[in-house]
Amino acid sequence: MLEPFKERIYVTRPVFPTIEEVTEKLRDIWDSKWLTNNGPQHTMLEHELKNFLKVPYLSLFNNGTIALMVACQSLRLSGEVITTPFTFAATPHVLSWNNITPIFCDVDAATMNIDADKIESMITPHTTAILAVHVFGTPCDVEKIRDVADRYGLKVVYDAAHAFGVEIGGNGIGNFGDISMFSFHATKLYHTVEGGALVMKNEHVKQRIDLLKNFGIKNEEEVVMPGINGKLDEIRAAIGRIMLNYVEDERLKRIRLHAIYDEELADVDGVTLMPTCADNVKLNHQYYVVRIDEKIFGRSRDFVYDEFRKFNVFARKYFHPLCSEFTCYRQLNSSRAENLPVANVIGQQVLSLPMYGGLTEEHVRKICAILKSFRRRN
Ligand SMILES: *Cc1c(COP(=O)(O)O)cnc(C)c1O
Repeated sequence: MLEPFKERIYVTRPVFPTIEEVTEKLRDIWDSKWLTNNGPQHTMLEHELKNFLKVPYLSLFNNGTIALMVACQSLRLSGEVITTPFTFAATPHVLSWNNITPIFCDVDAATMNIDADKIESMITPHTTAILAVHVFGTPCDVEKIRDVADRYGLKVVYDAAHAFGVEIGGNGIGNFGDISMFSFHATKLYHTVEGGALVMKNEHVKQRIDLLKNFGIKNEEEVVMPGINGKLDEIRAAIGRIMLNYVEDERLKRIRLHAIYDEELADVDGVTLMPTCADNVKLNHQYYVVRIDEKIFGRSRDFVYDEFRKFNVFARKYFHPLCSEFTCYRQLNSSRAENLPVANVIGQQVLSLPMYGGLTEEHVRKICAILKSFRRRN
């Protein structure tokens, strides 16, 4: 008989630096007498992250959502923006806060990312951009998206909140599109407690973004645009500098756990594992997501989710409900289920399993054994 875990196993756990490392950095900040507004920690973290992510320009933010709002402002997006319903609420909300209508495009059945082949059919005279998400760190079809955007003169913005450190052929994922956003929220692979960044191709765009995130203040005499407060403070920038030393170790631990999940679940009928990517793609293994096909597995995703809780396993239904099902978006024409057949199936099937460096191999094997015990053969 499988016993429940003694302690609760959550879907993720933030990576903590040692308290000593934080105390040491806090001393530096106290000595500097500088708490926010482009201090030394901020400057150093921007530089270090730019190198880590292999991108030419980067601006830090107090969170990923404000960063994405500023990205839309900086590109002067308006009208309609084509995006995916299979994402975190922040993605379409950022469009709404910019008075832009999100237009939901269906997703690809394998990658769960926006289906690049369907984008063209969603374009209208009001379309100004594509806002795509590298869901669970799997890269979007960046070539096809660039192609359709170029043919219609659209901007491309990536929500790369899940894709920290992901590379295609040695090229940082942030180099695709006009602007990419990273989130440094505590639950992400790399974090600054709360925080985020935009990465961009040229200095001119960075200058505009840096004005927008600081109230549009150019100097003591001039305020040149209606900006917002998107600044990251020195304390969180310092924690971010420490966390850069942890990210590769955490990634390697997750690669190992990922392989154990794959091994244990490979032959379970009705369970689809994470998509495999081209050999030249470096993934970050932030999440481990399966899909449960009720017809084959004999049990629904919701059944599995509920039963897991009895074993003290707190999996999460990322992303369910779809953004197109939210009360604030479901009246949109593009939210109709007929427009989003693949996303609607995936939304009923996905389940994020526990994934963080602190899990042991035994934890993962037991989680898999519990999952397999739910299966009902016909
Ligand atoms: C975490 C996340 C965000 C928001 O980032 P915050 O830093 O929490 O504001 C946006 N999009 C996706 C896909 C995310 O997972």
